[in-house]
Amino acid sequence: KVRVRFAPSPTGGLHLGGVRTALFNYLFARHHQGEFILRIEDTDQTRFVPGAEEYINECLAWCGISPDESPENPGAFGPYRQSERKPSYRQYAEQLVAAGYAYYAFDTAEELDEQRKIQPNFRYSHENRLSLRNSLSLSAEETKALLDAGAPHTIRIKMPEDEVVSFDDMIRGRVSFETKLIDDKVLLKADGMPTYHLAVVVDDKAMEISHVFRGEEWLPSAPVHLLLWEYLGWKEQMPQWAHLPLILKPDGNGKLSKRDGDRLGFPVYAMNWTDPKSGDLTKGFRELGFLPEAFINMLGVLGWNDGTDQELFSIEELIEKFSVERISKSGAKFDFEKAKWFNHEWIKKTDNAELFPQIKEVLAQNNIFDLDEAYLNTVLSAVKERLTYVSDFWGQASFFFQEPAQYDVDAVKPKWNTDKTAFFENIITEFEQQNDWTAGTLEPFFKGKVAESGMKIGELMMPYRIMLVGGKFGPDVFLITELLGKEQVISRVKKALE
Ligand code: GLU
Repeated sequence: KVRVRFAPSPTGGLHLGGVRTALFNYLFARHHQGEFILRIEDTDQTRFVPGAEEYINECLAWCGISPDESPENPGAFGPYRQSERKPSYRQYAEQLVAAGYAYYAFDTAEELDEQRKIQPNFRYSHENRLSLRNSLSLSAEETKALLDAGAPHTIRIKMPEDEVVSFDDMIRGRVSFETKLIDDKVLLKADGMPTYHLAVVVDDKAMEISHVFRGEEWLPSAPVHLLLWEYLGWKEQMPQWAHLPLILKPDGNGKLSKRDGDRLGFPVYAMNWTDPKSGDLTKGFRELGFLPEAFINMLGVLGWNDGTDQELFSIEELIEKFSVERISKSGAKFDFEKAKWFNHEWIKKTDNAELFPQIKEVLAQNNIFDLDEAYLNTVLSAVKERLTYVSDFWGQASFFFQEPAQYDVDAVKPKWNTDKTAFFENIITEFEQQNDWTAGTLEPFFKGKVAESGMKIGELMMPYRIMLVGGKFGPDVFLITELLGKEQVISRVKKALE
């Protein structure tokens, strides 16, 4: 049975990479009719940030990747917050000590700081553990006395001095690590909380996780986890691991970090995040105007492709086509222009009615209420392919709802003459007589009048557009003419001639 988990630490907003990890877990689970679990990894209480868990829930809901089991919606494997599982971890740490795979370490934080002062590259490892204060260097009696006296202590893994640990990563293939390079990681902290390393193994076992998709930054931790699976006697049940390629800065120069957003001029968070302490706002894709479908599509192809040139995928298609074999090993460059293209394409693909709520919000912000839905529908169809964000609607379509606030006079003035004034004065009287007010009739009619005048079409079309729209943009001018209606068109031309 496929069971995967997304296991974020609630330390702030969700970065693109975090959402992609959630997405790939979700796609894999759905592809295999498995289960997708949300587990909150909050054992590091110094890094706990209020509101972060709620943010994660909201973000997953917005993206449409809802977990089958989560703190909010528990299944049979709860609790789903590690802090609430605290009592379950110590026994395993003790089991490892009893078996000789881990040891008690009594060194205080001050003592370790002292060591770091002497040696800046200090690591607690096989090289020096016998000269530090732990159950390997102390006698059994000394150790017992310290424990009985309630001396604060951590439990550390005893890394083998010189072994090679290997496993088959689903993306990278065979990977190997030398244990001599790895320090003796803390498994259980002095406050009784497990560290990530212990908790992740105990919980993946307890929650019967079958596959783990996580960021490449966790690859160096994998040998520690592998040894823990082995030392706890669970090797047979160890999940298969897939370490996802990094998301790189647009120039390919290093990992896209949380701080890059402001620097590079685009968001790196899924949704706006306000740091509760500093009040600092980090902007998100949602608030910028991304549709969740576009956001998900863009993340789905960041380090994965289906082997064809297809770029637009709905979540259903991603589920159907997802395959681990097509995840790339190398980092994926993040291209914001491309992200915008996805949004543009998804706006085009999305039914007008689905966009209405957001469009109405944009209009309401500009004091336009009480809309005729049929009119809105036609207007939206007319400008849809010009939108990168839904919020662009106002800039592209405000003239459908109110007279232009200003006119691009500079585009017209230099070449204006009395012939042109006469043409437009004439055309509005002709318009008065016009009964068939449709683009199909208006276009040949207008063009015929231009021909009669002896002027060139471009000389008159552009000013006409500016009279109706205010500037040199917008859809077909005869479609605009039709939609605005006779009265509006005549009134706007009149006004512009004044
Ligand atoms: N809690 C880790 C994180 O915040 C999860 C790593 C993992 O999936 O094993 O990314």
